[in-house]
Amino acid sequence: MSEPNRNDRHAARMARKKALIDAAITAATGERGLLVVLTGNGKGKSTSAFGMVARALGHGMKVGVVQFIKSRTDTGEEAFLGRQPGVEWHVTGDGFTWDTQDREQDIATAQRGWAIAARMLGAPSYQLVVLDELTYLLSYGYLDADSVLDALAHRPPMQHVVVTGRAAPHALTELADTVSIIADEKHAFHAGVKAQPGIDF
Ligand code: ATP
Ligand code: MG
Repeated sequence: MSEPNRNDRHAARMARKKALIDAAITAATGERGLLVVLTGNGKGKSTSAFGMVARALGHGMKVGVVQFIKSRTDTGEEAFLGRQPGVEWHVTGDGFTWDTQDREQDIATAQRGWAIAARMLGAPSYQLVVLDELTYLLSYGYLDADSVLDALAHRPPMQHVVVTGRAAPHALTELADTVSIIADEKHAFHAGVKAQPGIDF
């Protein structure tokens, strides 16, 4: 095919594509608080949630973050985002279940964290609430799933919530507006690379 011919066909294809995309954008008129669930075994769930925290802060929104499972105390996200005006940052976990090895203590910690989250989900002043690693508390049965789903379903109508963690339960993804399942194709850890500041924490 000659170059001019190829360029004309490209322009026609892009014009058709633009018409479809513009029509879809025009049809999407709804506006409300969204429940976003980021799950799956691949890397990028929490960092995506913290990307939305940065976006929301850029819009002058008030943000609440609850980190339910704390694996380390020196994360870049807490050091940077946690001290921005407009953010309320809580770290409630004691570590991974295989580190604490204490179910009673894990349940008590989970419930303390959930009390903070529930308060945020009841207050319209929080325009974005991030519940980082919440899914584990549901899959281990540390929190009552019905109460959690009920609080999410009845939060203020314009409040956005992002939930992260592997193995999100079906009832949660069903309630969500946006669900991304991040696949684990490769991770440097499995090649013997230790967690890198700026990338992993
Ligand atoms: P991140 O915080 O980097 O976005 P994540 O929230 O998707 O990761 P988590 O399961 O919360 O994933 O794990 C947090 C830590 O474990 C990060 O240091 C991350 O790089 C690492 N990690 C995530 N996925 C994997 C994986 N598939 N294999 C090994 N390590 C992983
Ligand atoms: Mg995470």
